Amino acid sequence: MITVAIANQKGGVGKTTTAINIATAMAATGWKTLLIDLDPQGNASTGMGIEGVDRKYSSYDLLLEQGTLAQCAQPTEIPGLDIVPATQDLSGAEVELVAVDDRTARLSKALAQSGTTGFGSYDICFIDCPPSLGLLTLNALGAADTLLVPLQCEFFALEGLSQLLQTVERVQQRFNPDLGIVGIALTMFDRRNRLTDQVADDVRDCLGKLVFENVIPRNVRLSEAPSHGMPALVYDHNCPGSRAYIGLARELIGRLPERRKAA
Ligand code: ADP
Ligand code: MG
Repeated sequence: MITVAIANQKGGVGKTTTAINIATAMAATGWKTLLIDLDPQGNASTGMGIEGVDRKYSSYDLLLEQGTLAQCAQPTEIPGLDIVPATQDLSGAEVELVAVDDRTARLSKALAQSGTTGFGSYDICFIDCPPSLGLLTLNALGAADTLLVPLQCEFFALEGLSQLLQTVERVQQRFNPDLGIVGIALTMFDRRNRLTDQVADDVRDCLGKLVFENVIPRNVRLSEAPSHGMPALVYDHNCPGSRAYIGLARELIGRLPERRKAA
């Protein structure tokens, strides 16, 4: 299994939209896919149509060792795509884990259960991170083989990126030496707006090949889909946003590391 953390400590940059739609695209391509909602707001869970009452086990239980991966993962409406939903309990997890020795390794340990004891294994796992660099995101970076960073095409896009990259370096030094960065995905691109065009150019100048060629356009269908509890790829599979995510998934597959963590 390859584990991809989707992180950026800025809120509203398209992490959850990217996580939902890229996970759906991968499942549609035949990859057995797991999506872990690691944001206490639970937007990925809601966006996949998982109601509060159906979140009996969640990512909180996984981190607090109150449930196995087999218990916490549940099927979605999408064939080949399972989800570990999030509940508000998760906002307390950072405090509850603070005094625990292996506090940054909890998710990594939980994911090591994939493929063991007869439980179906996954080809790929996406982790939708909260908008902070706290213990939840550190758990995601500790468990991940690689990181995908959504970057919103706006004036301050690059601000905060250096802080994220510093965190990645720290994680590499301390507990996950093999953590890579698979790419930066430009989101909410509006080609009628010269500023976003300029920002996209600047980001490419600065970060070069790290930036995915497929850019996600600003598309109202992408923002409508979650209120219907389904990925945009299901809600309107032919809208520009959905098509862009299919392209991004294809590009991601080409970039994934050969080496997969033992699963
Ligand atoms: P994050 O998880 O980083 O906080 P979200 O994916 O939740 O960001 O996106 C923030 C808001 O912007 C949501 O309301 C979402 O529906 C909307 N959104 C995300 N990507 C796009 C896009 N490409 N076009 C239009 N709206 C988008
Ligand atoms: Mg989110």
